[in-house]
Amino acid sequence: MERDFYCPFCHGQLFINERIIFSTQNEKGQRGLVLLTPDLGDYRALKHPSYKIEEGEHIDFFCPICHKNLIVERGDKKLTRIMMMETGEEYEVLFSQMAGERSTYVIGDQSFHAFGEDAEEYTNFWGVTPSY
Ligand SMILES: [Zn+2]
Repeated sequence: MERDFYCPFCHGQLFINERIIFSTQNEKGQRGLVLLTPDLGDYRALKHPSYKIEEGEHIDFFCPICHKNLIVERGDKKLTRIMMMETGEEYEVLFSQMAGERSTYVIGDQSFHAFGEDAEEYTNFWGVTPSY
């Protein structure tokens, strides 16, 4: 399937060689690059082993091109927001910034999808029921 992922601020392309690339910072203030797969709900991150991320840690995500912070807050939840283009349609993609928490949301004009075993607790923020 033809997909692109890009920054909502500068529209810079983040999807390279089948990975979405982010500049991130952990709670200890260390910075590192993180690569995520485009299979939404799949959280196997690639990063350098010297950059440590602890389970449950809050990770800040930045666009590696314009360096804007990609955080959005929904209630007390912190999510990363990027854009996705798939077969000519634009979607918002949001996923949890808590390491180890598996929740991703894909929001289009007419659609809402939640992925990941921890996804359910966020769905009320949009006032809609996820469709699978
Ligand atoms: Zn950007």
